[in-house]
Amino acid sequence: MIGGMSWESSVVYYQLVNKKAKELLGGFHNCPNIMYTVDFAEIERLQREGNWKVMDTIMADAAKRLEHAGADIVVLCTNTMHLCSEAIRASISVPFLHIAEATAQAVAAEKLTKVALLGTRFTMEKDFYKDVLVKDYGIEVIIPNEAERNQIHDIIFDELVQGEIKDESRETYQDIIKRLENEGAQGVILGCTEIPLLIQPEDVTIPTFNTTKIHAEKAVEWALDIQAIKN
Ligand code: GLU
Repeated sequence: MIGGMSWESSVVYYQLVNKKAKELLGGFHNCPNIMYTVDFAEIERLQREGNWKVMDTIMADAAKRLEHAGADIVVLCTNTMHLCSEAIRASISVPFLHIAEATAQAVAAEKLTKVALLGTRFTMEKDFYKDVLVKDYGIEVIIPNEAERNQIHDIIFDELVQGEIKDESRETYQDIIKRLENEGAQGVILGCTEIPLLIQPEDVTIPTFNTTKIHAEKAVEWALDIQAIKN
């Protein structure tokens, strides 16, 4: 697992992979894993500067270190940084489980055809994430308007990645999700690994897709499949 973006959600990944392995295997089982944690201060600065080339190098290097340390699969514990997924894939020979791919499969399994996508400005505005849903799975994606996108992004960076959970921010998210529901969204992708720290399924009236949980659990299922093939 490439973690630290932010560590507030990496902690959740660590819990989820171990819980899932115990659920599937029982007994004293947990999920053997390696987490390589980067310093989010550097990543946040590079994101603001739009320096994706340098971030490609950092992510590819992290993935290589995990492969050398013995990882059977690599997962990147953030939605936004999947902008670097091509560089990661090119740097390793073990499989890389893309978070948007795992999420699209979860949406398709619920037979939803139109969903809202919340995340950082990068995730909502650039194509790298939406393309997986739209082109590969035929799922229509709607995103908040510009003012809403700014609110969502600022709450992620000013509060959630710093571990601050505020009721007023939850209400802001709830209002935006309600408006998108009225625009036809049948479900909402919580496409930032910290949003599930703020929004729970019961906070809204449409199904939520918790990308942290979907991705972490899928990673365990996938790792077990790979292990079964190897044995
Ligand atoms: N963890 C977040 C995500 O899932 C945002 C932090 C970042 O910008 O990497 O997109």
